[in-house]
Amino acid sequence: MSVSLSRFFIPGLLLAGLAFPVSASADGEVNLYSARQENLIKPLLDEFTQETGIRVNLVTARADALLQRLRSEGRNSPADVLITVDAGNLHSAKEAGVLQPISSEILTRDIPETYRDPQGYWVGLSQRARPIMYAKDRVDPSSLSSYEALTGEAWRGRICIRSSDNVYNQSMLASMIATQGEEATQNWANAFVKNFARPPVGGDRDQISAVAAGQCDIAIANTYYLALMLNSEDAAERTAAEKVGVFWPNQADRGVHVNISGAGVTAHARNKDNAIRLLEFLVSDQAQQWYAQANQEYPVKPGVSWSETLQGFGEYQADSVNMTLLGEYNAPAVRIMDRAGWR
Ligand code: FE
Repeated sequence: MSVSLSRFFIPGLLLAGLAFPVSASADGEVNLYSARQENLIKPLLDEFTQETGIRVNLVTARADALLQRLRSEGRNSPADVLITVDAGNLHSAKEAGVLQPISSEILTRDIPETYRDPQGYWVGLSQRARPIMYAKDRVDPSSLSSYEALTGEAWRGRICIRSSDNVYNQSMLASMIATQGEEATQNWANAFVKNFARPPVGGDRDQISAVAAGQCDIAIANTYYLALMLNSEDAAERTAAEKVGVFWPNQADRGVHVNISGAGVTAHARNKDNAIRLLEFLVSDQAQQWYAQANQEYPVKPGVSWSETLQGFGEYQADSVNMTLLGEYNAPAVRIMDRAGWR
């Protein structure tokens, strides 16, 4: 290695496992910071390298750690591409100035407008839906209709959902603000919190498990968690997941809340052309199918087939609010949950 490592490793930021295996920034490579785990992306990157000859150097870490790292590294950052989850995180990265706008006919053609930043700072790569999930033996799905209706007396003490400090719920409330305004969303949150079965604890998977275990009757969670549990190697997890059904809310109006995983080219990318080629590769039919299925998500590109498990959950109408608004309304969403006493 002839290139000094100092540009790549900022003192104090070097975390275990956070190093590029190869560190040079010449032609023929692209440096990727990914909030996706290695097993959810690496085989695709290998395929990209095989097709194009462009080597991909991969760093994986949590979404917030990667954003912090990009901010600290500034123009010295070796990263060319950031892959992260949730439109809220993509918006934060844009606001933090660590991404740059790009234009690509392929990305514009293949990714629906709703799932792209209007200025080209990021694009969606997969879609996840956040429907209502219910205990099949205790809830008649015909008693369900919308997120709004979960504030009714009938659901008192029956709902499990994770804490308000998670971006998934923040984005869900942001989508509600986008369509109904802050006042209606505040009123909804105040009443919704009263129906919690317990103070929020754990992640989405824990809410699904709590429904299966009878601690609550309803959960709101991302579909891939249930789908992964249904395909788990752990028989107990599969049995639990089979007790839980998916209900698509708001099908008569705004649609179920959806979010994305996505990517952007970094503000100081040295391999910008390769970075764009990588993003274009990731929206090819084959890549879309693999990437979505690896984590039981939906492809963002129309016409690409879904996993069998997702097909089993049925088709749905998604909220058509632009993903950008999920980031723009993040701050009021957090305030609303605070005021509602949503821990
Ligand atoms: Fe998740």
